[in-house]
Amino acid sequence: MMQPFRMASREDREGDTLIQISTAPRKVTVGEGYCTIIAGPCAVECKESYIDMAVFLKAAGAHILRGGLFKPRTSPYSFKGLGGPGINIIKEAREITGLPVVTEIMDVRDLDILYDSIDILQVGSRNMQNFSLLEELSKLDKPILLKRGLSATIEEWLLAAEYVLNGGNEKVILCERGIRTFEPYTRNTVDIGAVPLIKRLSHLPIIVDPSHATGKWHMVTPIAKAAIAAGADGVMVEVHQNPDYALSDGKQSLTPDNFRGMLRQVTDIACLEGKIVI
Ligand code: PEP
Ligand code: MN
Repeated sequence: MMQPFRMASREDREGDTLIQISTAPRKVTVGEGYCTIIAGPCAVECKESYIDMAVFLKAAGAHILRGGLFKPRTSPYSFKGLGGPGINIIKEAREITGLPVVTEIMDVRDLDILYDSIDILQVGSRNMQNFSLLEELSKLDKPILLKRGLSATIEEWLLAAEYVLNGGNEKVILCERGIRTFEPYTRNTVDIGAVPLIKRLSHLPIIVDPSHATGKWHMVTPIAKAAIAAGADGVMVEVHQNPDYALSDGKQSLTPDNFRGMLRQVTDIACLEGKIVI
């Protein structure tokens, strides 16, 4: 039986999709056999703190920087990111560190601002089924980090990936970030089982975001370890110099020290799994 997500399915292709993130001088590969660490604050808040964090993360061993400019917030009164003007901060961090960067795109009208300076465009949970956005992104030659919708089934998620693949963009990285359940102690319920399932169904890389998946900083390291042990190709975590004062998602942000500890433990597991941690 053919899967409804034909191009994302393993039936369509032999082997796993490896995505090269092209930013000189450092090459980053995302996919089977690698363990990619994406890290940074939830949102870019100000130039000084973002650049300092970027420099720290590079020295600590992160492969890709994150930082939101356009933040999808539940309340319109919450900090919604610096928006377009913040792009120069990310650009500078990318230049100084040589690390590729990922940020969320909520609206195709922001493509002009983001395209040249951003290496991976993130489609957030709330936009996983924004089909017109997916169709626009499918026309690009740029990797897309596609987060799982808050209440999306695996099939719906893979069909969202299919929109991007079908339009001609084969560079899709899936990101499990927890789903909404009846459990209120955690922000979401992390679906680690999605990792081996996706690996069986699809050739696309899959990473896990233990920060949004749990909403609690003390759960980030254990879930990051579980993700890699379950076969994920990497993790994306939020890190902040001073989580208590973060403008968004402080409760789930690691301090720099905690990030170092997380990376050490995740690297040990990745090595046991035979993955390359570049
Ligand atoms: C994010 O990673 O910045 C984010 C908003 O995550 P999600 O879409 O998973 O809630
Ligand atoms: Mn966040």
